Amino acid sequence: MSKYGFVKIERDFIQSIPDANEPIVHHDTSLPQTELARKVLQFAKSQLSTPILNHSLRVYLYSKAIIKDQFPDWNLDEEVIFVTALLHDLGTTDENLKATKMSFEYFGAIKARELVLKETNGDQDYADAVCEAIIRHQDLNDKGYITQLGLIIQISTVLDNAGFDSVSSLIHSDTLKVVNERYNRDNWLKCFAGVVQKENVLKPWGHTSSLGVEEFPANVLKNPLHYT
Ligand code: ZN
Repeated sequence: MSKYGFVKIERDFIQSIPDANEPIVHHDTSLPQTELARKVLQFAKSQLSTPILNHSLRVYLYSKAIIKDQFPDWNLDEEVIFVTALLHDLGTTDENLKATKMSFEYFGAIKARELVLKETNGDQDYADAVCEAIIRHQDLNDKGYITQLGLIIQISTVLDNAGFDSVSSLIHSDTLKVVNERYNRDNWLKCFAGVVQKENVLKPWGHTSSLGVEEFPANVLKNPLHYT
């Protein structure tokens, strides 16, 4: 097993979790306290708006809960999940959206890779794991495989943004409530739909368009899930 999640797993949520366990309630909202975790949190706070920072922290806490419930034998390191969750939307800051003609996921992933390499004194597996998961976090194709880290970041971001049944059944509704009370949603869906629309205007060739230029922001705005 790999603490960075370099284990092949089906990308499709149904295929990767054919028999979902009944989720239990998790109350723990603590964050990793390693030196690297604290540094990346500081960095994320300096770069991300509060709604995007709170979304990223919810993605970390969902991921931790869903792994406990659905993938108890995984060896994925919590700090690695935390760092990836915090940096997965780094490409959406105004500065980064305008700094490149590349899709936001790819540009943010490259910046995240550079940061992790620097802060870990060149741990390439760590940096590659974070980068790969961020590049693929909106790659919702139904065929092929992904890393464990990539899968859990996809599940948790889809859960926070679109609230589809295929992912909301993987977590207990009280865990959702605990996480969303700790890091509140404010106007999250509007904020995220706005980021998606901005990306599609600035980079109409970009990866986000593969989710449907009209359809994806519309799906986000009609997210049916009650989080609190
Ligand atoms: Zn996100």
